[in-house]
Amino acid sequence: MTARIALKSDVLIVGAGIAGCATALQLARRGKLVTLIERDQAGIRASGVNFGGVRQNGRDLRELPIAMRARAMWDELPGLIGFDGEFRATGNLRLASDEERVAQLDRFFTAATEQGLGLVRLDRAELKARYPWLSDRPIRGVLCPSDGHANPRLVGPAFAFAAQEAGATLIEHTEILEGWYANGAFHLRAADNRTFAAPMLVNCAGAWAGKIAGWFDEPVTLAPEIPQVQVTEPLPYRIEPVLGVMGGDFYLRQTFRGNILFGSGQGRATPDALRSRPLPETMRRGAEIAIAFIPHLAHVPIIRAWTGVDGDTSDGVCVLGPSETHPGLFHAFGFNGHGFLLGPAVGAVIAELILGGKTSTDIAGLGIGRFRPARKASAAPARGQHPDEERDASPEQNGAQNADRGSIGMERNEQAAGAHQRAEHGQDR
Ligand SMILES: Cc1cc2nc3c(=O)[nH]c(=O)nc-3n(C[C@H](O)[C@H](O)[C@H](O)COP(=O)(O)OP(=O)(O)OC[C@H]3O[C@@H](n4cnc5c(N)ncnc54)[C@H](O)[C@@H]3O)c2cc1C
Repeated sequence: MTARIALKSDVLIVGAGIAGCATALQLARRGKLVTLIERDQAGIRASGVNFGGVRQNGRDLRELPIAMRARAMWDELPGLIGFDGEFRATGNLRLASDEERVAQLDRFFTAATEQGLGLVRLDRAELKARYPWLSDRPIRGVLCPSDGHANPRLVGPAFAFAAQEAGATLIEHTEILEGWYANGAFHLRAADNRTFAAPMLVNCAGAWAGKIAGWFDEPVTLAPEIPQVQVTEPLPYRIEPVLGVMGGDFYLRQTFRGNILFGSGQGRATPDALRSRPLPETMRRGAEIAIAFIPHLAHVPIIRAWTGVDGDTSDGVCVLGPSETHPGLFHAFGFNGHGFLLGPAVGAVIAELILGGKTSTDIAGLGIGRFRPARKASAAPARGQHPDEERDASPEQNGAQNADRGSIGMERNEQAAGAHQRAEHGQDR
């Protein structure tokens, strides 16, 4: 038996990572009654364990408009969440080591410059002159001076706190198991059998969001992205920009305290993606790459490694915008291991869409419709019905199981063997 909770909401949000919390904050500030529901605790999943890169450099061009809007918002964090998130614009230096990657980097440089992103192109000699700690390996660099890094452990929870201060209700330790649309409202049932209802729903469930989209006949296959990061003992501060390597799945930054954080490769996650851990062989490979780019790092002790889980779409860019099946439903997920930067602007864009029906940011390439499966018209969901009344609308029959299998049930190498068409810019943070 289900017990309806006495909580009036204009908007329900599933998932209190940076995307959900930023959305809750923007909506609550504009007077909406928001209920934010989180399985664990706010900001402790991908949003709280990431590498901290705040990067427009090398973005897929479909994500560049929202990335540029987000970057401007990082300067406004004190007004939004009460402190600066330890964001520093140290720059992001993207490196290429072979002619194919140089060509990709040059294409990005030209296209992003046309879109107004400030970039500096550097040849090998210029790289050496500016960054004497770099090896001879990179032959081209593109510096984005406005990029930098921040502290993810503080930023996600701070968005959650600010959202509550603005009036949003945060309900933690509550997993949503089922959702449906009926009688003009979205309904959610939690594991403890509480139900929630509101005329608007935002799906910000991170690596698990494909399943929620499936409840509303828009399943998206998300592969778990399990970036593995490690950190050294502190060294004298020398490496100012965040480094990324074209196509190399390698990224590195130095904290002001001196520790070097770097990441490469993937860890391992349980099939439900709720637990993940670093792999020793990934650590070793990452250390080899780090030394290949910065020879001085040889023999520096590594003190810790960790992982987290994000969701990868098949084309490497996020899903952001309204549902195509259910007016009042909005999606913000599939950030492919680089959604930390985007968080603040995700909230602003979704709030604009909810409040005014349109956004000033170009999100044309990010719609969920690009994953619409070819299906017969008769397979469409019976809208407006509770699943108990009409099993046609149940997740089992509308494709959510496929989303499930494709998201958190696959082994990593199965996904790698899949037909993923990744963005050409690679997978660094
Ligand atoms: C190790 C690592 C390094 C990274 N480095 C960077 C970086 O340097 N720069 C960058 O830009 N990005 C980086 N990322 C990616 C970035 O962290 C994510 O893209 C971003 O945090 C996604 O935010 P989110 O709110 O969508 O997801 P999350 O933070 O994962 O939040 C989603 C929330 O939804 C909740 N949830 C899911 N299902 C349910 C349910 N059924 N009921 C209730 N709650 C539910 C989850 O518990 C979770 O808290 C990295 C990610 C990882 C893991």
